[in-house]
Amino acid sequence: MRAKLVAGNWKMNGSLESIRSLLDGIQRGMGSVSGAAVAVCPPAVYIPEVARLIAGTDIRLGAQNVGDRDEGAFTGEISGPMLGEFGCTYAIVGHSERRGLYGESDELVARRFAAARRAGLTPILCVGELLEEREQGTTEQVVGRQLDAVLKLEGIDAFVDSVIAYEPVWAIGTGKTATPEQAQDVHAFIRRKLAGQRSAVAEKVIIQYGGSVKGANAAELFSQPDIDGGLIGGASLQADEFLAICRAAG
Ligand code: PEP
Repeated sequence: MRAKLVAGNWKMNGSLESIRSLLDGIQRGMGSVSGAAVAVCPPAVYIPEVARLIAGTDIRLGAQNVGDRDEGAFTGEISGPMLGEFGCTYAIVGHSERRGLYGESDELVARRFAAARRAGLTPILCVGELLEEREQGTTEQVVGRQLDAVLKLEGIDAFVDSVIAYEPVWAIGTGKTATPEQAQDVHAFIRRKLAGQRSAVAEKVIIQYGGSVKGANAAELFSQPDIDGGLIGGASLQADEFLAICRAAG
């Protein structure tokens, strides 16, 4: 059986005061969570403080992005080795907000994925289609293309220690969740595609679902055979809601 992973993507939200109180709330409730790994991905500037606050707990730390190079003249980027120094385990790459709002191409996302692995971080590769792409029936083509960019650069074995997050763009932050069946169909497609290259890797890789997951809909989504937890945006900013999702994954 695959492990379940719930990761909170805080995006560009919070302040020193609010993240301290959020983490305090999550830590107090962690005793009620079992059977799922839990991670938080704060804005980069808060990573050292979050690392300090979660030291000695079961909460893992992730970054929301990672530089595609390891060092040098790349203003505004933060490298994998830097994130590793501050205790990050995960790095999200290819979030739809990075792809859509900041023009990150499939190839750049693949290079970020590779850089995360070079630094010993576990990449969380986000893939997912726009609403028009779903309506045109091209979901599998789009998700397949996003996966192919990484497979081309890194090969199938790179997925052994990686996480994939299927996040239909139309479901992110909109309150419109994919139905469990819609999500399961795409998760199964992703696993079949990887199995076409190596079945042992496909069986092992964690595939999270992301897109308006809440305490109320998490259990049904996570009960699908190919959904191994979630990448959570809005609901990860409220300790009680996030903990309810983590419990649903356990
Ligand atoms: C996300 O941004 O990764 C996400 C899933 O957001 P939300 O849960 O708010 O839809």
